Amino acid sequence: MNTSLRIMKFGGSSIRDADAIHNVIKIIKFQSTQIPMVLVFSAIGKTTSQLLHAGQLAASGNMDNALKVIKTIFNHHLEIANELIPDDDNLIAELIRKHSKIDSLLEAFSQINDLSLKSQDNLLAYGELMSTQIINRYFEKRGLKTILLDARELFVTNIQYTRAEPYWEQSFQRINKTLLPLLKNGQLPVIQGFIGATKTGETTTFGFEGSDYTASLIGAAMNALAIDVWKDVPGVMTTDPELCPDANVISSLSYEEAAALTFLGAKVLHCKTLAPAQRNGIPVNVRPLNEPENRGTTITSGCSSDNGRVKSITYKRNPLTMRLTSHSNILPHQLFHEVSSLFHNLQIQPILLTLTENRITAILNNEFQLQDRLQDLSEWGDLEFNQHTGTISLVGEGLCSFDTSMQKAMNLLKDYNISFISSGASPMQITIGVDKDDVDSVVKILHSHFFEQNGGVL
Ligand code: ADP
Ligand code: ASP
Ligand code: MG
Repeated sequence: MNTSLRIMKFGGSSIRDADAIHNVIKIIKFQSTQIPMVLVFSAIGKTTSQLLHAGQLAASGNMDNALKVIKTIFNHHLEIANELIPDDDNLIAELIRKHSKIDSLLEAFSQINDLSLKSQDNLLAYGELMSTQIINRYFEKRGLKTILLDARELFVTNIQYTRAEPYWEQSFQRINKTLLPLLKNGQLPVIQGFIGATKTGETTTFGFEGSDYTASLIGAAMNALAIDVWKDVPGVMTTDPELCPDANVISSLSYEEAAALTFLGAKVLHCKTLAPAQRNGIPVNVRPLNEPENRGTTITSGCSSDNGRVKSITYKRNPLTMRLTSHSNILPHQLFHEVSSLFHNLQIQPILLTLTENRITAILNNEFQLQDRLQDLSEWGDLEFNQHTGTISLVGEGLCSFDTSMQKAMNLLKDYNISFISSGASPMQITIGVDKDDVDSVVKILHSHFFEQNGGVL
């Protein structure tokens, strides 16, 4: 264990404007600049989705609007830079250089009328490249010994553009080789989240919200004391606070509980975040930007004191339901084999999978062009897709039995059309399917039942 090293990650909302970036300095100083830290940043605010929008406009021939979107992004960055570090000509020149590179990329997309996944990654990386440039310059000006690094030189990934997976060992070696001497020298590395590069140096991204994953990988690589992920919420909560403003903070979660929550929809952390931290036993703290003195939520191994209790409720409004009804000459085990091999090849992890005598039903995360990628299955039976069903998951360690409180909860839902209940398949969650338009109201009813009526602060 690297005794005092902390990895600190700040997402888009933590750096959405000059005031927010200023607050980040306060947090760093609150932690003390004496302890070693590595700082990981996302793109500013909603830059990533705006870049994507511009790329799509350009590829569909709408170049004027694409350039307008980029101009808006650029002006926002310029405004922040000017507010934080007035008249820094070098920084402005760097931002202008990036702006014109982005414009040339868009020009290329519009000429070929296409935005390949590889080009998309190339474009989206500019969000993090611009944010870290501004932040690093500002921190230097404020007397912090920061040093700006390029994550593409640290993370070697496969070639699955838009959802690339880093080669852990190779990346860990590079991370340690680069960062250890800097930390020994009292420097504060500033690194982009979300991006890496293939062995041949092509830019890749880890998937939306992937900066949390970057921080966790660095923490695991360096055996850090902790990974602090700073958010605009008090911590991981009993449900999405946007849906239930009465949601409470959960003080501790196990890695497994947190991983289940994120996989089943909680947007608060990227779903891959927990794996590297868990492998090396590094605590992940989800901490409130506005109250750095509060601990937020600590995610570690074995917090089993609440065994059997619902700790949080999460949901997916729009998963894809796939139903494959086999042709009469196909045996069930053959059908299962075909589906699972394709899922394996496409690296699809279903939310739920059921097999009956002649049918497989899978609830899937509705990822990019998923229906097209599953079309091969129609060779084995009638393949149907729909998006009528949303999922709601109750998450907590040891939550496999249907106790009285759970039965009461289900009684409260008697007026809703429940398409399935999956209980007992996992010791971590119970998932129910409801009409997608009912997801919000069902979450509210369940949250009130499990948390508000009992005044349940966890
Ligand atoms: P970042 O700034 O790192 O990108 P996000 O905005 O992606 O952070 O994640 C924080 C958001 O996650 C919150 O604003 C909140 O709306 C949402 N969220 C969803 N489920 C939960 C939950 N169970 N606990 C806390 N926040 C949640
Ligand atoms: N900037 C990327 C996104 O918006 C990664 C991240 O924020 O974690 O998805
Ligand atoms: Mg985010």
